[in-house]
Amino acid sequence: MPHVRPDPVLRPARVLSDEARAALREQSDRAPEWRPWLGLLEVALDQADREGWRTADIRFSTTRQVDAPLLEGASIQVDPSTVADAYAALMAAADAAAGPRTDSGADAGPADPLAMLGAGVRQDEAATSHLAGRAGLPAAFVATVSHFCAVPLLLEAARRAERAIPEGWRAGYCPVCGGWPTLAELRGLERRRVLRCGRCAAGWAREVLHCTFCGERDHRRQGALVPEEGGELVRIETCDTCGGYMKALTTLRPTPPWALPLEDLRTLPLELKAVERGFSRPGRPGWSLSVDIVPDKEMP
Ligand SMILES: [Zn+2]
Ligand SMILES: [Zn+2]
Repeated sequence: MPHVRPDPVLRPARVLSDEARAALREQSDRAPEWRPWLGLLEVALDQADREGWRTADIRFSTTRQVDAPLLEGASIQVDPSTVADAYAALMAAADAAAGPRTDSGADAGPADPLAMLGAGVRQDEAATSHLAGRAGLPAAFVATVSHFCAVPLLLEAARRAERAIPEGWRAGYCPVCGGWPTLAELRGLERRRVLRCGRCAAGWAREVLHCTFCGERDHRRQGALVPEEGGELVRIETCDTCGGYMKALTTLRPTPPWALPLEDLRTLPLELKAVERGFSRPGRPGWSLSVDIVPDKEMP
């Protein structure tokens, strides 16, 4: 599948639906300390509905290794003004949340939206540090903005790659973008376990009692943490072999893309219990992508 154009018949409804907006507002009221982060998420989802992402030219490589995500080695041409608009909207939201700036270097801002986009798509910590240093901005701030900057393109790439996800994908990381899954869904009445990527929203099946991070299958090495107030809708799966953990949600239907980061946030209290018990998630991406993103007017 070297080159897939979007199919207009299959064009999805809006990413930032009315339901999504309402849920973001509700969460923002319930947890005001997360309002700045939720504001950035809303901007990213809103930007994802722009036409400029639909017309991006995404060429997946035909010479990937079998365990490489679909975006490995991809060439992407994207409308630079769409990228610049997304970047500007995110920076405006981040600035509004941070209040008036006092540091002198901040006025410059990282002026290269395409570099921010690329760093976010690749989860490239060195690149975000470099961009932060150049602009006199905190590295964590730039990493967050670059992540949200990448969301519209990642969602678009995953939509086009949906039918190309290899059957029986074995790796724990996302078959589209190489990120670790945000959560596992135990989906439907049969509780089929589907891992979901919080970056591109791709989903891929994986058996129960099969550790995402190290592949452990011995049930004696795996445990579960459930909320004290009971309820089976959310739990944390833990692995004694690698010390990793994964949040698992019981769902009837696939979680829509906008709800994945929200569920991730809502289940934070339970997640902290896993962290208190010494479990952790890998600090580095599952796969470090190599992907070429250029303005669409520069390619022949
Ligand atoms: Zn992904
Ligand atoms: Zn493990």
